[in-house]
Amino acid sequence: MNTSTTVLGYPRIGPRRELKHAVEKYWAGKIGADELETVARQLRADTWSDLADRGLDTVPANTFAYYDQMLDHIQLVGAVPARYRELGLSALDTAFAMARGRDEIGALELTKWFDTNYHYLVPELDETTSFALDASKPLGDLAEAKALGVRARPVFIGPLTFLLLSKPSAGAGADFEPIALADRLVEAYAELLGQLVEAGAEWVQLDEPAYVQDRTADELALLESTYRRLAALPNRPKLVVTTYFGDPGDALPLLAATDVEGIGVDLVSAPALVDRIAGLPAFQRKTLYAGLIDGRNVWRGDLGGALSRATVLLGAVGELVISTSSSLLHVPYDVEVETALDPRVRERLAFARQKVDEVVLLGRALRTDDGVLADVARRPADGVVGPAGFGVDPAVRARVEGLQAADRTRAPYGERSLAQETLGLPPLATTTIGSFPQTGDVRKARAELRTGAITVAEYDERMRGEIQRVIALQEEIGLDVLVHGEPERNDMVQYFAEQLDGYAATELGWVQSYGSRCVRPPILYGDVSRPRPMTTEWAAYAQSLTERPVKGMLTGPVTMLAWSFVRDDQPLGVTADQVALALRDEIADLVAAGIRIVQVDEPALRELLPLREADRKAYLEWSVGSFRLATGGAPSAVQIHTHLCYSEFGAVIAGIDGLDADVTTIEAARSRMEVLADLADIGFHRGVGPGVYDIHSPRVPDRAETQSLLDAALNSIPAARLWVNPDCGLKTRTYTEVDPALRTLVAAAQAARQRL
Ligand code: GLN
Ligand code: ZN
Repeated sequence: MNTSTTVLGYPRIGPRRELKHAVEKYWAGKIGADELETVARQLRADTWSDLADRGLDTVPANTFAYYDQMLDHIQLVGAVPARYRELGLSALDTAFAMARGRDEIGALELTKWFDTNYHYLVPELDETTSFALDASKPLGDLAEAKALGVRARPVFIGPLTFLLLSKPSAGAGADFEPIALADRLVEAYAELLGQLVEAGAEWVQLDEPAYVQDRTADELALLESTYRRLAALPNRPKLVVTTYFGDPGDALPLLAATDVEGIGVDLVSAPALVDRIAGLPAFQRKTLYAGLIDGRNVWRGDLGGALSRATVLLGAVGELVISTSSSLLHVPYDVEVETALDPRVRERLAFARQKVDEVVLLGRALRTDDGVLADVARRPADGVVGPAGFGVDPAVRARVEGLQAADRTRAPYGERSLAQETLGLPPLATTTIGSFPQTGDVRKARAELRTGAITVAEYDERMRGEIQRVIALQEEIGLDVLVHGEPERNDMVQYFAEQLDGYAATELGWVQSYGSRCVRPPILYGDVSRPRPMTTEWAAYAQSLTERPVKGMLTGPVTMLAWSFVRDDQPLGVTADQVALALRDEIADLVAAGIRIVQVDEPALRELLPLREADRKAYLEWSVGSFRLATGGAPSAVQIHTHLCYSEFGAVIAGIDGLDADVTTIEAARSRMEVLADLADIGFHRGVGPGVYDIHSPRVPDRAETQSLLDAALNSIPAARLWVNPDCGLKTRTYTEVDPALRTLVAAAQAARQRL
């Protein structure tokens, strides 16, 4: 038999978020390490048994993590920074200290895992880092799996991806790069592979997704030499090196030239790889882990298409393993439990369990079980558009098709800023990003509405009370441009998704975002439209309470896509334009209701940036275009703001300019205004509000600190265009922090105005 089935990885939070609950109880001191370990062991066992019962030939191991797989890997190779080691804690508590910080010691940096919504902890390395293997966790996993009678394949981050995702520690030399440690690290892997083969591992999976990004010639050469070295080890398991989320490009033939037995590729994001692989003779001696089922989106697979690709591959490779394009970590567990979902949406969905079934079915079809083959062939190619045109809205499609360049163009900025003088704003105008702290009362009201304990009218009344309080507070503090505080929003994407046609919500569709934080992304399944105004009532109410301008607050089209599961049957740009048109209508309604400033948040503009440089221009075209479509109908006198966060703006700086917003508020406090130099480089000439208050920390900045950030900003932006605001929304903070911090911010702005 030269075909088999597996998946690259599986969710670990538990079908009912059991891990999240257990970990948080442990943090709160309500359960001990033993009890936490018991929950974890049960989850692993349940997962393996389920995967094996469903018919997978082999299952992944070492994909479980209490918090993050990168974090576990830091401990595996003994690269725990000294400041955490010196705490003298147990391995578990050391891991949590790195993840969450402890006393005076901050946490490791958290950043996005490629272009997904998963976040990993960034290893810190320097010249003095010496690796020391501790393989107790993967060895324990192997033993557990063996006891259950399943064939498990331990999964690890590959040495080069580990280094390429690391950063130099604070004490590293100026030109130290983590990749310089490759030699040393590979020794630790050699030892690891030796221990694993002793423990009975047949295959080991090493993930090298960093090679779907642009890599230098040196980095490519290092890939080849590293895997030649590992493949030459006398005593080791078989190796499969996997890439995912894109096309490995030049890395593919280099890997194929080494003696690793297996190569894994993502054929969903890079279907053209099928032909390339078929053209590389080296693959005739390899086992190909063919990622034919999408590991990161929620649609049922096109099994007919996958089957024909698999058939081509079967003739071109030594052995074929049908698999997922990536770990299933990025999708929820099970669509069967979503009983409240419209069946016409549900029948098009496949979550992790259903994807396992698809992999198994493909495997059976390939083994020419005729009944299964016929069954697979009979299944419709699961486009998003369902039975009887469900999800199709001809009016929306016609509107998108009829769009003109003029729809994305406002009057020149000079003309607009003149018209906006009627707002009567001072230089160094002060504002906030939108949300105010979500108090216990606010959350209680939402919970009570959900359970039916209060009526919609009562809920609305409580929200109005909250808005009234927030407006009064902002007036008293002396802010210039006010917000209503967003108390009615559970989440900035979900809130709009719930009101737009074409979006569905799940009940238990949780996916891990980082650590114990899980999100439930809405599912954008059809043409998007806005049946009725979404925010005007709240905005108009807030504006009725004050003379000062209140900003209308919307989530931009790119962010609405980035934090949802989106349809894959049409270009993202078309979907984004549909969302943009709904927002455009909303802005018109806000303006009609007397709102003079509208903020369209795009914190995710950076996140969706393609992994390869060559794809970025096209991305920025549609993403920026959709924002401009959303805002392009606003009259000149209406001031359009946008907001971005999560730093590292370098690659999207031209895009930020392209948005053509009148005012851009942007995270900047932690990086000490780094973004301003980038903006100056491209001659950015509109309003900008670099954050002077780091809201990601509970610390309340003092006057000197705020003032110094403001002075730094004034060095590169003239006061007339400079806004004074926090880094991001205040939702996650408390009033005891926010109240003094905002007063300090206003005082700093006023003092700076005096000096103009
Ligand atoms: N307006 C949103 C808020 O203040 C923006 C949040 C964000 O940028 N992530 O909460
Ligand atoms: Zn933000």
